[in-house]
Amino acid sequence: MPLVYLILGGNKGNRTEMISTAIDLVTSHIGQKMAISGLYESESWGFKSEPFINQVIKIETPLSPAKILLLSQEIENKLGRVRKSEGYEARTIDIDILYYDLMVINTPDLIVPHPKIAVRRFVLMPLTEIAPDLKDPVTGITVMEMLANCPDGSLVKLIAKKDKG
Ligand code: AMP
Repeated sequence: MPLVYLILGGNKGNRTEMISTAIDLVTSHIGQKMAISGLYESESWGFKSEPFINQVIKIETPLSPAKILLLSQEIENKLGRVRKSEGYEARTIDIDILYYDLMVINTPDLIVPHPKIAVRRFVLMPLTEIAPDLKDPVTGITVMEMLANCPDGSLVKLIAKKDKG
């Protein structure tokens, strides 16, 4: 069955609780959890914004990439909108598909591997924790090597180790 890596992130509301709820929805609707990273906090810089919390999960799923994208967007919509008197607040949870086995997808809606993996430290740190030797099917470079060569100098720190589950 395909193995898929997703990154979840958020910087609004109760970030830890949001990620945890999103992970629950991913594992109940998209696929079974095979591995999960710790929680990482990344300071946003260049513009004023709350720090983000990110986590990477590896799942096993029979679903197609398009179906995973659809369900991820449903989870984003469900969790990411806080009801306000005049409408809805901005999204608080973002879910990106990093890898779908070693498949390369290039459609208007979906690019896999995610094109920004190699330049985002907040992706590479948690991904290295659970998939250091995964070789990117486009570049042939492993996740660990990408982290070693990552040009992104922003601060990313582990704030909670992965659970045992
Ligand atoms: P964002 O608002 O940054 O989460 O971008 C969401 C948009 O990116 C969606 O409309 C997706 O169709 C598109 N997209 C392209 N590739 C991916 C990917 N690998 N994972 C998630 N969304 C993707």
